[in-house]
Amino acid sequence: MFENLSDKLQRAFKSLRGQGTITEENIGEALREIRVALLEADVNLNVVKDLIDHIRARAVGQEVMTALSPTEQVIKIVRDELIALLGKDTARFKFASQPPTVILMAGLQGSGKTTTSGKLAAWLQKGGHRPMLVSVDVYRPAAREQLKIVAKSIKANLYEGDLKGETAGTALVERLAKEARREAIITGCDTLIVDTAGRLHIDEDLMDEMQRLKALLNPQEILFIADAMTGQDAVRSADEFHKRFSLTGIVLTKMDGDARGGAALSIRHVTGQPVKFIGMGEKPDAFEPFHPDRIVSRILGMGDIMTLIEKAEEKLDRKKSEDFAKKALSGDGFSLEDFRDQLRQIKKLGSLQSIMKMLPSVGPFQGIQQMADQVDESQFTRVEAIINSMTKKERANHEIISGSRRKRIANGSGTSVQEVNQLLRQYAQMRKMFKSAGKGGMLQRKLMGSL
Ligand code: GDP
Repeated sequence: MFENLSDKLQRAFKSLRGQGTITEENIGEALREIRVALLEADVNLNVVKDLIDHIRARAVGQEVMTALSPTEQVIKIVRDELIALLGKDTARFKFASQPPTVILMAGLQGSGKTTTSGKLAAWLQKGGHRPMLVSVDVYRPAAREQLKIVAKSIKANLYEGDLKGETAGTALVERLAKEARREAIITGCDTLIVDTAGRLHIDEDLMDEMQRLKALLNPQEILFIADAMTGQDAVRSADEFHKRFSLTGIVLTKMDGDARGGAALSIRHVTGQPVKFIGMGEKPDAFEPFHPDRIVSRILGMGDIMTLIEKAEEKLDRKKSEDFAKKALSGDGFSLEDFRDQLRQIKKLGSLQSIMKMLPSVGPFQGIQQMADQVDESQFTRVEAIINSMTKKERANHEIISGSRRKRIANGSGTSVQEVNQLLRQYAQMRKMFKSAGKGGMLQRKLMGSL
């Protein structure tokens, strides 16, 4: 997510290093680079233009902030402007005062509506709600079947309904929708998620059908599900749908595969509608509310510690994590035993790559995001096997692991001495990195404290 843009922006900021103050001339080069970075990320042209104008106006003639260097000042301005572009505050999900809250899922075929319906249901369940799912895609039996599988996997209520051999068409769609709402009320479900057939804005019949569904259900949320990987096409479709149905928000899916970020950065400005959630993978929990400030932190290479913390709070054993953090950041550092425990914990958070990408790439963690791309996830298992083959003493003190011990460990774990060596090297590096993070990366603190 945003990898390309993030790299290029970092480079643009570097061009300002060593400047005493910001002037029209010396910021010109940085602004040009920022502009190119945004255009290459497929951000809408008008959006880029407005953004650059705002940044220039604020950066030149900026009141002197002694706490920040010129580079940091520009980063701060870019950060503020990007957050403003994405909508400043996290958009809230609207609930009905009288349940059930109805959510209409709209979008093109393949954009991720069914997957997202399931993710949204899982998210609501986590928040203590009782969602019901219904698919009114009477045109594709496979689509209804897919939602059934999704509902089962997250143990959510599903209204299947009986098509009774009726011809696929708007009348049947309306009947199913009405029945589902009644069923939700009877069974005490407080939210109804209506997964609809994929449609193009030029398909008049299907657009009419959506209009009728809207009139019938009077939904609190009409969400447009947009595939982020389709860039400006997603933005245009969202705009068309908004003109017809007055959307209440957008869900950007497949953000995990979108290295550019053009749709995410343009869709709010173009449609005026907020992105409410993002999809980051195929699994039901690869779904997050869209927080503009956190996303911008990720774009600027500052990581997304808040989301990482929330994930950790949800999935990890708090006490164990705190103990590990304390040890890791202290002068003594963490042992291989702690490392193995932590690996087992981390596995619960998702892939190592996705975690590394949430860490800031400035300050003590510099370079870690780039390293993420080279991570081979199967190494997790190998690393654990190697540590398992060590004695308790060795795990407590890596320095005693001599050549002959390494050979024994390699044999025991079915790996090679080189692999054992490599693990020990990486462990030592990591230990050092955490220790220095404990001492405090100055830039990191300065940035965090001043933003
Ligand atoms: P629909 O036709 O709009 O209902 O789309 P689906 O829900 O069937 O999704 C189409 C494809 O996109 C499926 O293979 C999903 O697994 C995949 N998909 C959906 N959301 C995401 C996402 O956030 N990330 C990734 N990588 N794949 C996704």
